[in-house]
Amino acid sequence: CGIVAYVGLRPAAPLVFHALGLLEYRGYDSAGIAVLTPDGEIETEKTVGGVVALTSLLVRADLQTSGTAIGHTRWATHGAVTEVNAHPLSDCHGAVSIAHNGVIANADVLRRELAARGHRLVGEVDSEVIAHLVEEFVEEGSSIAVALTSATARLEGSWAIVAMDARTGTVAATAQGSPLIVSTTPEGTFVASDITAISDRVDAYQVLRSSDVVEIGRGGATWWDGGARSAGPSSSPVRWRA
Ligand code: GLU
Repeated sequence: CGIVAYVGLRPAAPLVFHALGLLEYRGYDSAGIAVLTPDGEIETEKTVGGVVALTSLLVRADLQTSGTAIGHTRWATHGAVTEVNAHPLSDCHGAVSIAHNGVIANADVLRRELAARGHRLVGEVDSEVIAHLVEEFVEEGSSIAVALTSATARLEGSWAIVAMDARTGTVAATAQGSPLIVSTTPEGTFVASDITAISDRVDAYQVLRSSDVVEIGRGGATWWDGGARSAGPSSSPVRWRA
């Protein structure tokens, strides 16, 4: 239903929390935030209640300095309204965390394939397969942008996805048939499914066209038209104030 991500110089958790609150008007049944810790781990808080129930993450001393977080408000399409099925969703090892809007039509087939390859899927939500597919490509050594491109090549349906890589602290975003916008400010880059979430923070934004991928990390955002390939990005990175 709603997606927000931030990578930048400011504390990410409060920014994502605030932006999710601005998406509440759209309606949702559950919500969650995942924050990258200074040790390169992913801390996730999810609730079947209001966004306000996620404030416990904001007061955690160890997360105050994190500049990387993703968040989601869910409107369940596949799988019950439970904390396990709420996003952000992780793979078994906590290597990646993803938030997804839309529907994965071939989730059942992918779920069986992943289980046969040894993945342990813990929920019933269609989006869970994305976390495990992205993790496979990250484990093979792909950047999060290339991993997300490779994972979405396996998907049928509609999606806006943000994916966070614990190892590198990098976030990638892509969309097909579901809106996603990106805005780079002097202090960081925002991704959102709806301008309402970030309109009090940004002056301008770009819309992700079908299959475009943006990778945010190392001080800026890099854009690939039509998917991230090893051939390199379509434009030079947009940098924040160093
Ligand atoms: N299909 C996903 C789910 O059921 C995403 C729903 C949404 O867009 O919020 O969780």
